[in-house]
Amino acid sequence: MKEYFNSNKELKNIIRETSEIAGYLWQRGWAERNASNISVNITDLLKKEEISEYSLFPYFTLPLSYPKLAGSYFFVTGTGKRMRDLAWKPMKNLLILQLNGDASGYWIISQTIGDAENFLPTSELPTHLGIHQMIAERGSNEKVVMHTHAHELVTLTHAKEFCDQDRLNQVLWSMHPETVIFVPKGVGFVPYFLPGSVEIAAETLKALQNHDVALWEKHGVFAIGKSVEETFDAIDILAKSAHIFFMCRSANIIPDSFSEAQLAELRKLAENF
Ligand SMILES: [Zn+2]
Repeated sequence: MKEYFNSNKELKNIIRETSEIAGYLWQRGWAERNASNISVNITDLLKKEEISEYSLFPYFTLPLSYPKLAGSYFFVTGTGKRMRDLAWKPMKNLLILQLNGDASGYWIISQTIGDAENFLPTSELPTHLGIHQMIAERGSNEKVVMHTHAHELVTLTHAKEFCDQDRLNQVLWSMHPETVIFVPKGVGFVPYFLPGSVEIAAETLKALQNHDVALWEKHGVFAIGKSVEETFDAIDILAKSAHIFFMCRSANIIPDSFSEAQLAELRKLAENF
């Protein structure tokens, strides 16, 4: 399969883009140790007839099934893998998988059974697949799911005042015009639950119904987008707003914020993007 993946120009471009963004996640300080994980639906990029010899691929069953994703292909970051390593050795840190006919299990088609270098997908795979399934159900065109520890946004959620979705978005939108223009839906707030729990997965799905970014209290973000770059950009812009807010606070400045009229003007502008 390696030759097929290597000859696929579009796939190579997306993997290159993902490596670049993985490096930014690390540089931003959002991906300490093995934090952060990314999945991309690449079903449109692979040809089914080019993939065979399934008996050679490692196969795993899933705790749940995702019927809307039956037969789909994804690349996902590996469990325990570091974003800073992915930045320069992508195929040693991410893998390509295909869901089976009823989406109750998957083959890792970038690996061969018995290879000493084999590794598993991120432990957040069920959450990623749940989000991809929601996207498929509603028929929208997001391909990417990204989880990272954007600490500027996490810091806000340590204050009870900002564990309120409306208040949170009011602050984020009032710090910088681009936040209103490029993240018009704001963030969906997800209260604290144990990472990996059924509750946090359900709350994240709920938050992503109406937002492109879900902010987990005291933890990080889950974001969706049409490309890896676009997904990163939304988190980056929100983090910029939070950063300006904290800079104001540390300089003893009470942020002036935008007036209602200015916000309305920006929202109008956002409609044209
Ligand atoms: Zn995390």
